[in-house]
Amino acid sequence: MIVYKFGGASVKDAAAFRNLFQILRGLPKNANPLVVVSAMGKTTNALEMCFGQAFKGESYAAAVQETRQYHDQILRELFPDPNHHVYEAVSSQFAQLEKTLHQTQPREFDRQYDQVISIGELLSSLILHHYLCQQGYQNQWLDARDYLRTDDTWREARLDWAWTEREIASKLPPILEKMAAVTQGFIGRTANGQTTTLGREGSDFSAAIFAYCLQAPALTIWKDVPGLLNADPKLFKDTIRYDEIAYQEAIEMAYYGASVIHPKTVQPLAKRGIPLYIKSFLHPEEPGTVIHNCQHDRIAPAYILKQNQCLLSFHTKDLGFITEQQLGTIFQAMGRYRLKINMMQNSAISFSACVDFDQARIDGLKADLATEFNILYNQPLWLYTIKNYDEPSLEKLTAGKEILLEQRSRLTFQFVCRPPESKKS
Ligand code: ASP
Ligand code: MG
Repeated sequence: MIVYKFGGASVKDAAAFRNLFQILRGLPKNANPLVVVSAMGKTTNALEMCFGQAFKGESYAAAVQETRQYHDQILRELFPDPNHHVYEAVSSQFAQLEKTLHQTQPREFDRQYDQVISIGELLSSLILHHYLCQQGYQNQWLDARDYLRTDDTWREARLDWAWTEREIASKLPPILEKMAAVTQGFIGRTANGQTTTLGREGSDFSAAIFAYCLQAPALTIWKDVPGLLNADPKLFKDTIRYDEIAYQEAIEMAYYGASVIHPKTVQPLAKRGIPLYIKSFLHPEEPGTVIHNCQHDRIAPAYILKQNQCLLSFHTKDLGFITEQQLGTIFQAMGRYRLKINMMQNSAISFSACVDFDQARIDGLKADLATEFNILYNQPLWLYTIKNYDEPSLEKLTAGKEILLEQRSRLTFQFVCRPPESKKS
């Protein structure tokens, strides 16, 4: 029982599809993997743009056209026969996209978002399924929504674990006994049949759900980086790769914003002791990183950056001390607006919280709490975290930065600052 997850970069063009096939071909003869795939390249962003325009009542035709051309170009390279039925399958997804965009109303943003954005994964998985078949690699296409049951927390749907596990554990093994299967990451369905998504970058989480429910011996996530690094190489110089790290360490890194794994991915795997391999799809022969049950010495400091942050501060109106009741009111409102607190601090007459910036949510929160507090906010800001920090790493990262808020515990140092001029730290 092998579960492989391939992200957007591993299906970003025709060469990437060919490379993916080579990786599958490298498996032993009777190993039939379950392949979980993300939308191709930057398709999710492109669909977000189409939907944003439709929602505002603007023309989305050009954005749809561009997405279509991107997919068509790859199709033509992969399928020389213009009558191949993949063309029909892709056309019907685009017809569905047009229809959904056409029906978009200026309300219920999150619900409608899920109906549109999920099409990216349907497209990529259909193309991969047909491509593998064409190459003589037998596989079944599965609609992940038939297996992942969620509630209707649109854009961040919560899984019905019991239902999902029952479906996956009973229906998938008989299929995988016969052949490989290709399915989508990121998407699920409510009990009354509406499509949901699990949160941006949620395909990793989907793969972990499948691995958990199948009690798979391992999950491998194929990436464009050589493994789990101590920093994002796009943002930091001189990164190093961890050979192995413990589940808890990985969960914390993901929580602080390490972009290599979706935060919810590791927990279900840890629960069943399923090792998670993070490997490079460009160098599949290299070891990558394994996240599993292990004891290790303190690992090299990990540098994590969250951009697009906002520092909210709540001040009592009468210069009175902040009470626990008032903190309760603030937390409840933040929960209502799904504003995630990444760091917080209180003083005598104020409370500060660093959250992911979202204008609409912050406006709602401010309106709700305006009678009780004076609320100020500051953005765009960056939040840096150093896990397992030491003095040199701390000095290196803070040098020359204007720090607005900082906090340190024994192992973790965090600070909020203005974005510096240069992006590489
Ligand atoms: N395609 C979705 C996204 O880009 C999910 C994923 O790739 O994990 O967020
Ligand atoms: Mg992705």
